[in-house]
Amino acid sequence: MKISVLSIGDELLRGSTTNTNLARIGQELGAVAIFPVMEMAVKDTQADILDAMYVLFARSDVIISTGGLGPTSDDVTKSTVAEYFGLKLKENAKIADRIKSFWSARRLGCMPDSVLNQALVPEGAEILENKTGTAPGLIVRKKGSKKKVIMLPGPPHEMYPMLMESVLPYLESISKDRLYTEIIYLAGIGESSVEEKAAPIASSVPGLSIAYCASLESVKLFLSGKNRDVVMGKMDEIRDVLKEFLLSPGVQTIAEEIFFLLGKRKNKLSIAESCTGGMIAAAITDIPGASEVFSGSAVVYSNEWKMKILGVKAKTLEQYGAVSSQCAKEMVEGACRKFDSDAGIAVTGIAGPGGGSKEKPTGLVFIATRYADQTLMEQYNFPGVRDMVRRRAVSSALNQLRRQIISVQD
Ligand code: AMP
Ligand code: MG
Repeated sequence: MKISVLSIGDELLRGSTTNTNLARIGQELGAVAIFPVMEMAVKDTQADILDAMYVLFARSDVIISTGGLGPTSDDVTKSTVAEYFGLKLKENAKIADRIKSFWSARRLGCMPDSVLNQALVPEGAEILENKTGTAPGLIVRKKGSKKKVIMLPGPPHEMYPMLMESVLPYLESISKDRLYTEIIYLAGIGESSVEEKAAPIASSVPGLSIAYCASLESVKLFLSGKNRDVVMGKMDEIRDVLKEFLLSPGVQTIAEEIFFLLGKRKNKLSIAESCTGGMIAAAITDIPGASEVFSGSAVVYSNEWKMKILGVKAKTLEQYGAVSSQCAKEMVEGACRKFDSDAGIAVTGIAGPGGGSKEKPTGLVFIATRYADQTLMEQYNFPGVRDMVRRRAVSSALNQLRRQIISVQD
């Protein structure tokens, strides 16, 4: 089954709205091993939408559209799709009643007639319930044609639940060769190294497809095939060759893994950050329930406060400088003492663009982690601009602590 995505809305082309619907659709379809073949973004005009439908239907059988389903005159998606298939629009009594009660429950005053435009549906359309708004989604096709348009509303908080609850089950139900997909998350390893180890295992069985999706937080590996047992068996082999990088079941990011590993052991974490300015603490506190493991952190930029808050020695700063392995060590040990914690992370480095020198260039970062009364110091040289250096420092710091925790037996 070939699928394409049509994003409809002037605001997408002007750049005033970021096309997050496309990303969400791509991610969720990817998770069930459906990879859209093409995407187009067009303005809210009938001519543009029709042109796009001709192009997309030349490459795919199913178009998922978002946007242009509202009640106002600039919402033309539904009438255009009906015209393309030669179908008439008819009012659907059930949708009309739902819109009226939605409107009165919210005490929005007298309802403009145009609101009921949302109850007009092309003949024979399948209706997808919208639990968070008024415009329903629609699946439209012409009798005898396998071409279909699945129309979803533009607002992401309406589009996403409908995608998950209605569209994915629908696509699975019409897919002739339904695939079973397993996903694992890995950290501390690059996507190409994952491929080097996993691809030979996947290719040992015909018909299995393997895909990767890398971010700074983790590498996501998808394995899909028709036979569930084969997919599960091969995924077990892949887990085995990549076990030192594998995140725990149900965990998707390296910060969640730290939260999980420390929570399981009833350990507390504290952090001391210089060049990452609180980003590691933010990654941990993004997780609901973070207080179970997170004691606190200190963002210490100046030498004075590194000494006053964390107990870094003046001699260490004089002799080695603030960006040094020795300073990182004293920072993490100071943080664990101050916050009375079992695990610690400290980061000191040069994020750039200024502040670098020949001996200590931009991107040089020292990370110290502490667990089970042992301090581990490592030096990193991150490429890229300030933001990238800082983000890489966050994921490397979390991963360094992860490695340290799992190296200690329970
Ligand atoms: P519409 O269904 O066209 O009335 O869309 C209403 C609102 O949904 C727009 O004003 C945007 O804020 C949002 N929206 C529409 N399309 C997208 C998209 N592709 N990605 C993210 N937001 C969108
Ligand atoms: Mg719109």
